[in-house]
Amino acid sequence: AKTQGGRGLQYYTPALSTETTRRLSLENSLRYALDRGELELHYQPQVSLESGRVTGVEALLRWRHPHRGWISPAQFIPLAEENGLIVPIGEWVLNTACAQAKTWRTTEGLPLTIAVNLSARQFLQANFIAQIDQILGQCDLAATALKLEITESLLMQDLKRAITTLHALKERGLQLAIDDFGTGYSSLNYLKRFPLDQLKIDRAFIRDITREPDDAAIAQAIIALAHSLKLEVMAEGVESEAQVAFLRTKFCHAIQGYYVSRPLPPEQLAHWVRENRC
Ligand code: C2E
Ligand code: CA
Ligand code: CA
Ligand code: CA
Repeated sequence: AKTQGGRGLQYYTPALSTETTRRLSLENSLRYALDRGELELHYQPQVSLESGRVTGVEALLRWRHPHRGWISPAQFIPLAEENGLIVPIGEWVLNTACAQAKTWRTTEGLPLTIAVNLSARQFLQANFIAQIDQILGQCDLAATALKLEITESLLMQDLKRAITTLHALKERGLQLAIDDFGTGYSSLNYLKRFPLDQLKIDRAFIRDITREPDDAAIAQAIIALAHSLKLEVMAEGVESEAQVAFLRTKFCHAIQGYYVSRPLPPEQLAHWVRENRC
């Protein structure tokens, strides 16, 4: 709606672009997606380069829309962050992932670490620590089995609070990883003030690691940085043998990517791990 001269309100419906319309309807159906059971988690293996073993999995959200089919989290997470739906969705993700990890560890004998992505809204909520305690208690899952993947930009939004929250999580024994490392704006000075366990090198640097000297140099520098800060370092988006070979020569600890496996639904993941453990 727009006011014009003295002629009152005029509506320009056609000005709503098809993109805006699409967004609005997506946003509307996302409100109900959780209640209707349209959200699922798929799990992607994370492998130690040293032992060759699967040490854990990352939980990745999938939305099976009744009419549009699968919708990528890259499309709906930003929407959910804007309208606040990420808070109940994120809580569902934590609950579901922890319950799944408990099942794998006890009834199936697979000692996997479960990595969960967090958004800023979720992390900065006043009751976030209480929520974590409640979920771990309810699932009867050891805190050490849960890894939280956090981005640099999330941490930089409210530094003081981030440091306090990270220490509270670390005290409980959770593992903490910086996701998409190298793409954000965190100062190296703060890196040492966060009680971190792992850096994940963003896929953007890994993609052309064997062709682009600049990318190779950045990846190598991040690996060296991790080593000197005594952090574990994991490369994400690894797709080829050549990338693995490069990462090995730089002593990167762990990898994740299509080279190992695509993200899988829970039953397939358990089957995959049993077949590919060693
Ligand atoms: P991310 O955390 O960086 O996750 C890695 C993304 O790379 C995933 O995309 C994964 O499927 C994809 N990927 C893994 N290996 C490869 C590879 O070898 N090649 C290529 N080309 N891609 C690979 P996905 O599942 O579409 O997720 C996109 C982003 O959505 C995630 O990026 C994460 O930021 C966000 N996301 C996913 N699930 C959640 C969630 O539960 N909560 C929050 N807050 N964000 C989530
Ligand atoms: Ca991640
Ligand atoms: Ca990532
Ligand atoms: Ca990424």
